Amino acid sequence: VKWVYTFGDGRAEGSSDMPELLGGKGANLAEMANLGLPVPPGFTITTEVCAFFYENEKRFPPQLADAVESALAHIGDLTGKSFGDGQKPLLVSVRSGGRASMPGMMDTVLNLGLNDVTVEALARSSGDERFAYDSYRRFIQMYSNVVLGVGHHEFEDELEFYKESKGVSFDTELDAADWRKLIASFKEKIVEAVGAPFPQDPHEQLWGAIGAVFGSWENPRAITYRRIHNIPSNWGTAVNVQAMVFGNMGPTSATGVAFTRNPSTGEKALYGEFLANAQGEDVVAGIRTPQAISEAARLAAGSDKPSLETAMPEAFAEFVRITELLERHYRDMQDLEFTIEDGKLWMLQTRSGKRTSPAALRIAVEMTQEGLIDKEEAVSRIDPASLDQLLHPAINPSAERIVIATGLPASPGAATGEIVFTAEAAEQLKAIGRKTILVRIETSPDDIHGMHAAEGILTTRGGMTSHAAVVARGMGKPCVSGAASIRVDYAQGMLTAGGAVFHKGDVLTIDGGAGQVIKGAIKMSRPELSGEFGALMKWADDIRRMEVRANAETPQDARVALKFGAEGIGLCRTEHMFFDPDRLNAVREMILADNKAGRRAALAKLLPMQRGDFVELFGIMAGLPVTIRLLDPPLHEFLPQTPDEIAEVAKALGLPIAKITRRLDELKEINPMLGFRGSRLAIAFPEIAEMQARAIFEAAIEVKQRTGALVHPEIMAPLIIAKAEFDAVKARVDATAAIVFAESGVSIPYTVGAMIETPRASLRAGEIAATAEFFSFGTNDLTQTCMALSRDDAGAFLGLYVGAGLLAGDPFITIDADGVGELVAIGAERSRAARADIKLGICGEHGGDPASIAFCESLGLDYVSCSPFRVPIARLAAAQATL
Ligand code: ADP
Ligand code: MG
Ligand code: MG
Repeated sequence: VKWVYTFGDGRAEGSSDMPELLGGKGANLAEMANLGLPVPPGFTITTEVCAFFYENEKRFPPQLADAVESALAHIGDLTGKSFGDGQKPLLVSVRSGGRASMPGMMDTVLNLGLNDVTVEALARSSGDERFAYDSYRRFIQMYSNVVLGVGHHEFEDELEFYKESKGVSFDTELDAADWRKLIASFKEKIVEAVGAPFPQDPHEQLWGAIGAVFGSWENPRAITYRRIHNIPSNWGTAVNVQAMVFGNMGPTSATGVAFTRNPSTGEKALYGEFLANAQGEDVVAGIRTPQAISEAARLAAGSDKPSLETAMPEAFAEFVRITELLERHYRDMQDLEFTIEDGKLWMLQTRSGKRTSPAALRIAVEMTQEGLIDKEEAVSRIDPASLDQLLHPAINPSAERIVIATGLPASPGAATGEIVFTAEAAEQLKAIGRKTILVRIETSPDDIHGMHAAEGILTTRGGMTSHAAVVARGMGKPCVSGAASIRVDYAQGMLTAGGAVFHKGDVLTIDGGAGQVIKGAIKMSRPELSGEFGALMKWADDIRRMEVRANAETPQDARVALKFGAEGIGLCRTEHMFFDPDRLNAVREMILADNKAGRRAALAKLLPMQRGDFVELFGIMAGLPVTIRLLDPPLHEFLPQTPDEIAEVAKALGLPIAKITRRLDELKEINPMLGFRGSRLAIAFPEIAEMQARAIFEAAIEVKQRTGALVHPEIMAPLIIAKAEFDAVKARVDATAAIVFAESGVSIPYTVGAMIETPRASLRAGEIAATAEFFSFGTNDLTQTCMALSRDDAGAFLGLYVGAGLLAGDPFITIDADGVGELVAIGAERSRAARADIKLGICGEHGGDPASIAFCESLGLDYVSCSPFRVPIARLAAAQATL
């Protein structure tokens, strides 16, 4: 086995194709050496050694010592120095570097090889005693911290104290004699802390550092970082040992970091900072204020400290040449680390730089225009989920936040408003132009109007798929759910959080992307949709195969959906139209009617309202397909619940209270999710389906006659379980169509299809498709019914399952491809066998989830439908799914 790969002097044994083995840093150091760039020579100990180390009680493979020895000798040859030599000592850095970049999470030791003898040699060869002792004390500090476990502050306190007693404020003001004294006291500290002197043997130092860097893979910081970023713990880190170059050798030396483009805006301009006469982490550590690299950036920042461009013009020119070369070579924005030793530039690291989502968009689009990458590559580089950040207002990054509680980041964006505790209050304040945050323990369908009126929603209970979260995402409203540390007192109209009390009318801000609840108002910025956004979405549209539709029922949702590029409505939930306060009483009258005649009378009142809704919706959609689902929820959801509400409704409808309570009792269900809902309503009360069908057809005719737009309604029967059931509903719709077309003398094309959300419907898809002209997989309910997992109750244990690895993830966020997905696959296959041209789509939360969209593409579905604000995400994800 080859455990060690060398690099330097224009060649390397590794390359950038080998990040698994060499880690990202090692692979890119090798690549830069291969490109002939000035990289201090060194070698990489592979991640396989890391695996061996952890499998063998932190011991190294037996052959490693020899391999390291000869690699060290190789560096010695290239530099004309020798490790541990008293005359020309080779000094090295020992740097961590995993496959995925984990910035600052693991350890690095600089200036290794220094001891009481070699420090003298360094002083002689550099002609700079101060520099040599400064390097030595840095090494002692770092090594003690990383390898011996002596806290950094022990030394920093000592240093501060010393500077104070000398009356100076900067490290640079200390001379060689000062550092010598400090080194002596550092050494005493170490003996005190670990009971042994600081190791003088360079080989002991080297192996100590290598072991510590491998050990740092398992430090708590690194473990946490890997968990958050889903980096597998068996990847391990590599260790890079590299000849030191010195940025702290006086005013002609420097160290710095740079990005080839601006990582927050994406602007094509070298962006970075440096410090003269400094080493390693000094730039990021904020000890001194760093200087700009380019003159343009210095001017923009209004700084009077010279830029690298003016301070070291030759090194700057060389650096610019190299940054351009690296960006072209990697075809991506690079994040670079460099050091200038006595005027000579050395490259120490390059990698693809992290960036904000606006920057990612701009860079991808501009690189395409520059011919660096093609459109497919540009489309594949943008994380669809990151588009969310672009579509919602966000807290100004420089604003100060006083976080009073945290919950789940249920729906992105930020909102500020007066807190209110009822939907009614939110509505009343909205009516007089005031902004609110609706605070509820949890929300129910009754709160929809209040959620709609509020700027944002905060709940103290419920998960990422709770009612509040789903509805808020659907509305594109910020939401923090499950902020469990907040106590809500409805009676008093107040909440307590972190010891503080907030009353109705007090102002709070929520950050739905971070899950934070923040005190007071805070500065916001609404990101403008940039030209780059439009360009990239256009390319995505050219590439994708699946159609993208939106779940929308209100005119406002439909307009948003169109603005974001929806190609139709994939799910219009008609019950949302029933919840409108103006018509809720007519709905209740219908439900409370004693007989068919009574129901028909109430439905006759609803017909014009429902028709009006569809006229407006069809008008907005102007000929694009609209899938309308017949009434789906259990009827009791429309009835009043509390005694006060019941009394109020009784009065409004002129009915005895007892009648309402009796009907409520009749409609009461133990398990409404599997109860009297879906197409069961159309079977029991066909007149409801008939009214809805009539409203749809009359509206389509009206719009056609008025605007000429050919509306093509797709009428969908929910929660189908059997072919005969579907056929019965379809017969009602067809009969109504025939009547309406005869009455008006106008016909319009329409289709009737089934919503597939029970396992039985998937299994019997072949026969249902004999009469159904389209299927829409309702994967929210299909997940509930397939897994016997209640969406509203799963929060209590789902986290446990996912945490313990019993389930791969929350199946309500990303479709469970193996189980629920197989039902979709079966339904698709069997329905196509019966009807080759059947139109297949999915609606529900999964329609806006990139991984689920990729799954839909693999089944060749015709479209996905998602909430309006997720349409751009779905367009991009659908394009990526084809690449
Ligand atoms: P991190 O992964 O935390 O960035 P690095 O291994 O990149 O850690 O080291 C941090 C810094 O130490 C580098 O940016 C560079 O400034 C300095 N450094 C590392 N190796 C050397 C070296 N051989 N010569 C000079 N400076 C070095
Ligand atoms: Mg680095
Ligand atoms: Mg459903």
